[in-house]
Amino acid sequence: MSTWEEKVHKVTPYTPGEQPKNKNVIKLNTNENPYPPASSVKRIIESADYEVLRRYPDPLASGLLQALSDSYGVPKDQIFVGVGSDDVLAMSFLTFFTSGERILFPDVTYSFYDVWADEFRIPFDTVPLREDLSIDKEGFIGKNSGGIVIPNPNAPTGLDAGVDTLEEIIRDNPQCVVIIDEAYVDFGAESVLPLIDKYDNLLVTQTFSKSRALAGSRIGFAFGSRKLIKYLNDVKFSFNSYTMDYITQQVGIASLQDRDYFRMRCLEIINERERAKKEFSRLGFDFPDSKSNFIFVHHKDRSAVDIFNALRENDIYVRHFDGERTGDYLRVTIGTREQMDALFGFLSDYLGEG
Ligand SMILES: *Cc1c(COP(=O)(O)O)cnc(C)c1O
Repeated sequence: MSTWEEKVHKVTPYTPGEQPKNKNVIKLNTNENPYPPASSVKRIIESADYEVLRRYPDPLASGLLQALSDSYGVPKDQIFVGVGSDDVLAMSFLTFFTSGERILFPDVTYSFYDVWADEFRIPFDTVPLREDLSIDKEGFIGKNSGGIVIPNPNAPTGLDAGVDTLEEIIRDNPQCVVIIDEAYVDFGAESVLPLIDKYDNLLVTQTFSKSRALAGSRIGFAFGSRKLIKYLNDVKFSFNSYTMDYITQQVGIASLQDRDYFRMRCLEIINERERAKKEFSRLGFDFPDSKSNFIFVHHKDRSAVDIFNALRENDIYVRHFDGERTGDYLRVTIGTREQMDALFGFLSDYLGEG
């Protein structure tokens, strides 16, 4: 190794779900929304004035902050905006979790948390999920940890821990910031957002990527006490001020304005998920009871890898995670009615053959 290479900060990057080149595949592997974004978004893109690109965008994304404030009833100085919630979460780890004390998150969870911890040299412990894959709140209480991050619903299990459980964890950890990552909250779980005025150590993150069908635009946001948001902004503005471009800010505002479309699409996905639960049960799968836009399924006598490969050969992509507790499962994103019919049609034939 040449001498300069000894000085390089070396990390193992996050592995995103596969993005196949072939557009005809049924893509149920990255929890994208199967529907297009609101038509108000289309109008923004079609009428975008390319002249504005000459100027730097508003570093505060003030228009988008105002629209989020109007939609969620939270003052602007309690909202932080980032380039996807991955950006919001990474900034939050950097701001709140670098004291040198150990942070905690579940052993089966969003696989970016340990990547950021390594990236920022944050020591961490994982708290095992219970046997039924639910969050074990006792593991997060009385540990005097340096920070806590929990997705609700959790990924890839889809389980909703419930506001009461989360509140106990937040209340019993006043010595650190607790992040609740609500990437999937719009698909039926209750948000802890009302608790931000009761607990100044609570940060709630959400995203436009799943429920608003804007994974390609990269818009994430966080709610918290004024103090938390100020600390986050201070770190962000000492790192990179102009992260969100002008058109994306307009896209975000437009998406928030079309509330009926948003509610309708969330409801369609929820209905399709509930139908999928019945189909999966009929085909011999079991699964934690999902409140998200995916289901984490396990077949009683066929291996997850075999099913994964058979689906893939037939251009149906789902997600498989290696690992002791996840290797027997497949995470299946909820698609359109037609996509799900194709999935269940294939599985009926495949599993029927024995
Ligand atoms: C998808 C996801 C995110 C990140 O989404 P962005 O596209 O970066 O907004 C964060 N947390 C969890 C649990 C997710 O599944």
